[in-house]
Amino acid sequence: MFLIDPHVHMVSRTTTDYENMAMAGVVAVSEPAFWAGFDRSPAAFSDYYRQLTEFEPTRAASFGIRHFCWICLNPKEAEDLGKAREVLSLIPDFLSRPNVLGVGEIGLHKNTPHEMEVFRRHVQLAIDAGAARGGPHALILIHTPHLADKLKGTRLILDMLREFGAAIDPARVLIDHVEEHTISMVKDAGYWAGMTIYPTTKATPERAIDMIEVYGAEQMCINAAADWGISDPLWIHRTMLEAQRRGQNRAALIRLFHNNPASFFGQHPGFSIRPIEVVEK
Ligand SMILES: [Zn+2]
Repeated sequence: MFLIDPHVHMVSRTTTDYENMAMAGVVAVSEPAFWAGFDRSPAAFSDYYRQLTEFEPTRAASFGIRHFCWICLNPKEAEDLGKAREVLSLIPDFLSRPNVLGVGEIGLHKNTPHEMEVFRRHVQLAIDAGAARGGPHALILIHTPHLADKLKGTRLILDMLREFGAAIDPARVLIDHVEEHTISMVKDAGYWAGMTIYPTTKATPERAIDMIEVYGAEQMCINAAADWGISDPLWIHRTMLEAQRRGQNRAALIRLFHNNPASFFGQHPGFSIRPIEVVEK
């Protein structure tokens, strides 16, 4: 089997993780910019974006894995609008680097007015990047808040995206960390939806496959979002195992774990991994 992990923070993982992922069939990863566990200075963001675009792709390549990434200021660090302005000014240059798929993971953390302001500015950056190339807006990857803030945060995010009208194409936006109470509003509005499988919070393999059975696999991506916390890049494999247990055939698994992310990311000309042709039996 070949898999693409559409959301994983490899800068905080070891080479052993890369090796295990390669042995388990992972051919590509996409790494959104995120919170380091502490707030950084604007200068540190420039270094971080260089790590994502220069060093991490070479580390992945030594295990035969293609590495793509997303650039943004994480919502956890969006409270300081002065800092946000400085960091956002760095982003346009990085968006044109070869392994950068777009703007992400932007979103909301505590649903504050400042977070919302910085979210809107990021969306505008994606629109401006597209206009500069004479094409549609850059792809956008969105983090939805945790636990009690998720429902309200997801609604606020959908409302803000709607404010941009026809400038935003839902097929070029992936809204991540959906759960049972947020999946239908995301899918009904035409966005891609991501499910995150964690050992402790977010979704479990069983709940994720339940949601696939109820809502279908169309425009769905499954990720392990492994980072420096309690997480494991091989939880997408556990989820695939659960799907297999429920009788999903190989074509369905390839579609969900390889072709869906390949189709979404493939809207960026730099993402050259094509969906695998599957024959239904
Ligand atoms: Zn993340």
